[in-house]
Amino acid sequence: MIDNIILGVKKEDDPSENRVSIVPKDVKAIIDLGIIVEVEKDSGIKAGYPNKDYESAGAVIVKNLSNKTNIVTSVNAFYNKSNIIKNSSIISLTDIRTNPEIVSICEKNSLSLFAMEFVPRIARAQKLDALSSQASIAGYRAGLLAATSLKKYLPLMMTAAGTIPPSSILVLGAGVAGLQAIATAKRLGADVTGYDIRLAAGEQIESLGAKFISDEVAEDTESSGGYAKEQTKDKQKSQLEFLKEYILKSDAVISTAAIPGRKAPILIETSTVKEMKPGSVIVDISAPSGGNCQSTVLGESVDINGTIIHGPKNLSSEMAFDASIVYSKNIFGLLEIIIKKNVFEINLEDEIIDAMLVFQNGKKRIEV
Ligand code: NAD
Repeated sequence: MIDNIILGVKKEDDPSENRVSIVPKDVKAIIDLGIIVEVEKDSGIKAGYPNKDYESAGAVIVKNLSNKTNIVTSVNAFYNKSNIIKNSSIISLTDIRTNPEIVSICEKNSLSLFAMEFVPRIARAQKLDALSSQASIAGYRAGLLAATSLKKYLPLMMTAAGTIPPSSILVLGAGVAGLQAIATAKRLGADVTGYDIRLAAGEQIESLGAKFISDEVAEDTESSGGYAKEQTKDKQKSQLEFLKEYILKSDAVISTAAIPGRKAPILIETSTVKEMKPGSVIVDISAPSGGNCQSTVLGESVDINGTIIHGPKNLSSEMAFDASIVYSKNIFGLLEIIIKKNVFEINLEDEIIDAMLVFQNGKKRIEV
């Protein structure tokens, strides 16, 4: 139990990260919980939030967070592993599943870690759901990237000089990001098709006005948490064959398929890319977890026989102003649970806390 709590907003160490974990608009609400808010100078600049906006909201701007900080908020707290405040509680997205070094950092520094990617997908936790808030932005941004990378109109255009047919866009994986990519491409007038191995996604694809395609692998594909299950080798092979025809008919493919904690499934082989129409585009949102396309290179755009394959590293950071607003609200949702009447108290019986608190005072309590 801690009172007189100091919450520190960390300036992101990753030079390519534009988001900030708390926006000025939420500072007052956090102070109202009875917390002192300190913000590292220029934390919000790249997202569009100047220091003076934090000061006006009641925060104190500091050069560096002091070692008295109780709670540190961040987008990616472990980018610079030497910049960690001992005995603090960290609220951040992490890559702990693929980066075991974080385990020893938490142990050595007696950290408590609330991993924002482990927010349980239950109705009460929706306000905290950072994976969804950021995936939705990434899906929207991917739709725009596909549109601006094509050398074509998205909508049907009837002009005095003739009629131009709409572009056809195929979206692979219709979770949060995929559905937002579908909605964005539809709004821009494209002819959109969606695919997912979870049959439940079909209804959502169709409700956005897109066509749903499914193959015989679409059975028993959903885990109890609503996530997709990994496919067997045989099913993966038949899936590749099924999708090839649709990929070759498309002007752009936006791929978003993912299995939590696993490498992303391959849905587009390089041999298929080589057969695509010149000028085609692939936006592979799953690039950070290995990519859905065999030709994807993380953080780069490659050209194979005239098809451009984008492997964006961090699409939500490209829309840092709004991405920070929703991420900040997600963190505030957690603060409301762990701070009661000016006191910081961790209730392990709360299923949200139980799912997110990976380390408590340096002791690992969840297998990731
Ligand atoms: P995700 O990022 O883990 O995966 C993206 C999509 O890829 C999923 O729809 C998945 O089915 C699909 N996929 C995986 N392997 C595939 C393959 N081989 N071929 C084609 N598609 C494949 O998913 P997500 O966006 O985090 O959403 C997962 C589920 O959780 C969805 O059912 C979503 O509606 C649900 N959800 C629930 C809540 C909540 O209840 N609070 C919040 C967000 C999402």
